[in-house]
Amino acid sequence: MIYDVAIIGSGPAGISAAIYAKRGGLEVVILSDFKGSLKRTEKIENYYGFPSIISGEELHKNGILQAERLGIHTVNCQVTSIEQTFANSFSVKSTIGETTAKSVIIACGAPSVKPKVEGVEAFEGRGISYCAVCDGFFFRGKSVCVLGSGEYAAKEAEYLLNLTTRVTVLTNGEKKYSPMPQGAAVSTLNIYNFEGNKSLNRVNFEDGSFLPTDGVFVAEGVANALDFARRLGLSTDEKGSIIIDKDGNTSVKGVFAAGDCTPGINQICYAVSEGASAGMSAIKFLKQA
Ligand SMILES: Cc1cc2nc3c(=O)[nH]c(=O)nc-3n(C[C@H](O)[C@H](O)[C@H](O)COP(=O)(O)OP(=O)(O)OC[C@H]3O[C@@H](n4cnc5c(N)ncnc54)[C@H](O)[C@@H]3O)c2cc1C
Repeated sequence: MIYDVAIIGSGPAGISAAIYAKRGGLEVVILSDFKGSLKRTEKIENYYGFPSIISGEELHKNGILQAERLGIHTVNCQVTSIEQTFANSFSVKSTIGETTAKSVIIACGAPSVKPKVEGVEAFEGRGISYCAVCDGFFFRGKSVCVLGSGEYAAKEAEYLLNLTTRVTVLTNGEKKYSPMPQGAAVSTLNIYNFEGNKSLNRVNFEDGSFLPTDGVFVAEGVANALDFARRLGLSTDEKGSIIIDKDGNTSVKGVFAAGDCTPGINQICYAVSEGASAGMSAIKFLKQA
């Protein structure tokens, strides 16, 4: 079967894109390993329409159910490559084989590379965070660290400097790092582990020294969507995000992108909005084809 559109990712961007494309009359498949940022979000209290806190897990489950109710085909797999074929369609290779579609929406989210430092997983949601915009508010007036050495770490540090009393960027042994915002301290020492009781309270370094802290914001990694972008020849920015226009079009016809894999604010409302635009653009593209 040749689908009208194959959507990579089942986060808010992918599901929203699928809903708009399907309701516009397209045959849609979602290829996803059903992980991503949304599932790792413990509490959401800034998304429209939920008077009580909802978990990312629950919101994700609701999205899948909504998509399936509309007849959208969802496939649990890991996509390994996307190629444009000479027949003007796209071949999506994954752990379940090959899927062919006339258009593709990349909604893979930001990379979720976890640093291999002892204590990261243990203190997730108890001092370890992956998102300054989401969780920085909970650390206002406190002392925090940012783990990373690139542009992303610098941006997170910049955001946190407005809320917290002290920000230390931990490069974990990386001596070459992006310029950090004024006011942020930088430590290039190798990290031994993150330590705490109920919640994280200090960073231990390999040289025996330590730094008391209330939280660590992980800001490492690059978008896995970049691999697809490279393969398809899509334009990306300096951070590896896929560049789109206001309608979700990438630099290659028939390929759209939405959510955390594009530049912009990494929040659910943005991902949902961009997903809707990408879904609508896929409809327009196929009508013109
Ligand atoms: C800890 C944390 C807390 C957060 N808190 C909030 C909050 O309170 N409010 C808020 O608005 N936002 C919050 N966010 C941000 C929000 O979760 C994201 O902005 C949003 O989920 C982005 O949606 P997305 O669809 O672009 O990506 P994701 O939700 O990351 O979904 C990406 C999808 O792509 C799939 N995928 C990726 N690669 C592949 C592949 N190769 N093959 C198959 N499938 C693949 C994943 O499994 C997943 O289904 C938080 C994020 C984190 C990490």
